[in-house]
Amino acid sequence: MAHDAGSPLMLAAKPPVESAGEAAAIALMRQGLLHRYSEASSGHAPAAELEQAFARSLGVPYCVGMNSCGSTLFAALHACDLRPGEPVLTSCFTLSPVPGAIVHAGGRPLLVDCTDDYTLDFDDLERKAANSSARILLVSHMRGHLCDMERLTEICSRRGLTLVEDCAHTMGATWNGRPSGTWGLMGCFSLQSYKHVNAGEGGLLVTADADCAARAILLSGSYMFFDTHLARPDLTVFERWRRVTPNCSLRLSNLAAAVALPQLGETLAHRIDAWNTRYAWVATALSGTPHVRLPRKDEKAFRVGSSLQFNFIGLTRADMTAVVAHAQQLGLPLKWFGAEQAKGYTSTWRDWCFGGPDVQLPTAERVIEGLCDLRIPLTLTEDEAARIGTIVRTSVRSVVGV
Ligand SMILES: *Cc1c(COP(=O)(O)O)cnc(C)c1O
Repeated sequence: MAHDAGSPLMLAAKPPVESAGEAAAIALMRQGLLHRYSEASSGHAPAAELEQAFARSLGVPYCVGMNSCGSTLFAALHACDLRPGEPVLTSCFTLSPVPGAIVHAGGRPLLVDCTDDYTLDFDDLERKAANSSARILLVSHMRGHLCDMERLTEICSRRGLTLVEDCAHTMGATWNGRPSGTWGLMGCFSLQSYKHVNAGEGGLLVTADADCAARAILLSGSYMFFDTHLARPDLTVFERWRRVTPNCSLRLSNLAAAVALPQLGETLAHRIDAWNTRYAWVATALSGTPHVRLPRKDEKAFRVGSSLQFNFIGLTRADMTAVVAHAQQLGLPLKWFGAEQAKGYTSTWRDWCFGGPDVQLPTAERVIEGLCDLRIPLTLTEDEAARIGTIVRTSVRSVVGV
């Protein structure tokens, strides 16, 4: 079981596309039916089938596919009648496409602080809701950490806030048994390669609201083909919106849908099991490591452990820099949100000059400083999980000598 101390762990590995997805994609290419509204097509477009399958899996009536989750967030804000320059409350701990979608829709992000467990800080939400004219909360379940959704919906209804969920990391997750993405007026999912279904690019908006669904379909750029959607409202609903909704050409490609479709259902359920097993291996390997804190998870939250976050505690910046460098040398690429320079996907609100005016985010400032992020690839072995624990422990010891 000897490991080469320096051989790097491949945490960004992705499984290949299922053979069913590969075959469906090749068939579409042979027929040239890459566009969902192809007039030559007989039968249903894979994009429409994917929407229907996803809507059914969540138990919602409507689903609209687009070219990215960011586009679905934009469409959701449009369907909320966001006014130019209007503030939108949103999680400060998120990825740049979330504030990006707010700016795209003409709004202004108003960042809400987070907790030590990486979820939305309700006290700060209450404060900022009371002290602003914001009507919309775009909550981002960043890295799959769900806040108390019952309390959140209570706050939203009491404050008159419309809730939209960014579910890029919560496909398959539930709170108290109810799927993430069905708690707000609309839920937005991603099919980008590093989420739970890999189509390269793509997004899925779900809603139980017929007007929101029709507006999103029209906005996505359905020309006069909205009737070909399977998870759509009645055609009479489109009459209210078809002449006033711009075509923003944000369509989901048939090719992406064909690749995504076989990844739902049993395949997704198996992946979720595999991620959660691997998450537990790594969490066990890390537990009890001095200066390392793993987040607490509420019993009502069913999280998909496709990544793991932990916080350094009681270490200086210099210590953390040294620990991360040491781990890197031993083959563990820790993504550290507190690094001087943001890399890859680890940017924070400090890097988004479009993120709105400086706001007070005292907990997030402290949490982000010590936050480390690891992908959990489906290929991770139990040995590798143990090795992650050993590397972090050894690296912390080498720096602080405990
Ligand atoms: C990836 C991601 C998005 C956006 O997804 P795209 O499909 O890339 O637009 C939104 N929110 C979070 C938290 C993400 O990680």
